[in-house]
Amino acid sequence: MSRSIVIRNALILAQPSAGQPVFGQVEIRYGRIASVAAGEHASDAEEIIDAAGCALLPGLVNTHAHSHSSLTRGSAEGAALDAWLAAIESEQSQLTEEQEYIAALATYAEALLSGTTAILDMCLHPRAAYRAAREIGIRAVIAPYVADSKPFTPTLAETTSLLDLAAAEDDRVRVFVGLHDLESCSDAQIAEGAALARRFATGLHLHCSETEGQVARTRSRTGVTPVARLGALRALGKRTVLAHCVWVDDADRRLLAETGTHVAHCPHANLKLGSGVAPVVDLRRRGVNVALGTDGAKANNRLDPFDVMKFASLVQKGVLRDPAVLPPIEILDMATRCGAAALDIPAGALVPGLAADLILVRLDDFHTQPMLPDNAAANLVHAARGSDVVLTMVAGEILTRSGRLVSERWDSLADDSRRVGLELIAAQSLT
Ligand SMILES: [Zn+2]
Repeated sequence: MSRSIVIRNALILAQPSAGQPVFGQVEIRYGRIASVAAGEHASDAEEIIDAAGCALLPGLVNTHAHSHSSLTRGSAEGAALDAWLAAIESEQSQLTEEQEYIAALATYAEALLSGTTAILDMCLHPRAAYRAAREIGIRAVIAPYVADSKPFTPTLAETTSLLDLAAAEDDRVRVFVGLHDLESCSDAQIAEGAALARRFATGLHLHCSETEGQVARTRSRTGVTPVARLGALRALGKRTVLAHCVWVDDADRRLLAETGTHVAHCPHANLKLGSGVAPVVDLRRRGVNVALGTDGAKANNRLDPFDVMKFASLVQKGVLRDPAVLPPIEILDMATRCGAAALDIPAGALVPGLAADLILVRLDDFHTQPMLPDNAAANLVHAARGSDVVLTMVAGEILTRSGRLVSERWDSLADDSRRVGLELIAAQSLT
């Protein structure tokens, strides 16, 4: 890894929601942003990258994914959430540690190649995912998929030992406490998981209020909404990331804002599973930090953050019948700064001192031109796609270049992931 790199001649969106993009250069030293400057300046950096024709922006942050879903996408289609969860459960229950390792590598490869530098992965074999993330180099938060009603899922005891391991290694892969949701975890387990997150001063990740039916069932069981119930179990707060929050009422929204709870908005999954449309504009207006997520590959079916940005933008405009809501700079802000805040990572902007997590995106192709400061944000959100990413850097390390993972170690990964995916499909057809 070069200790110092300069990227020059790029159209820089240093903080997408603040300030006009400028043509200039960014210097990276020892894994961090050292300087951001308009124009071109002499440099003694070890490597100089000419980024003419490209936008340079903070890496995109995926705040909700499931790596175990990546190898069998296209199966279990056309079902609503409850039936869909039941359909994918038999595959989940048979997944081995080694299969999850390949699935996680494939997930992180797809993410890196399409511009994701950080990912929150709620996964079934967290040690395998943890190993995969460290080896491939993505910044990751591993959240074990804990649910005491599902015997094949990891336990809070396993989460504790992984938290100990992560604390000792202290690098770009971290661990949150993961709890599937209020229906597949007992209240006691939710409270215990929240206490564990507090003990380790780490994050907590759950699904919440994804469908109208879930809210109705929790209301009839507890007398309150899922958000209120999580509040009563001390599971809300500045270190909690809730996926979905589609069906949240006025009091829920106030509680999310008051407690500083983050929301991972996953428009594809909500549309595909027929769950509904999250009230993103209203949540943001109330001060809730709303970040973006792909959800798992079976619910999306692509882990492309550019696709997520476009869906997030267009769905709100259509539902609210207002083309002015969520302008492109706000969408980019959700995908970068808001995501970094949700995961509590030192990235999300190109500012000296922050980690050098960044991407270069071609904006001079037929479908993205012309490249101008005034339309860069719009073209990144509404025209670009993950395959336009030509370089992905995490902590100053270049992990992808020209549409390929840089390390030759991963040359056989696509073949390995196809083989394991076919094994999983074959095992399902036998059961
Ligand atoms: Zn999910």
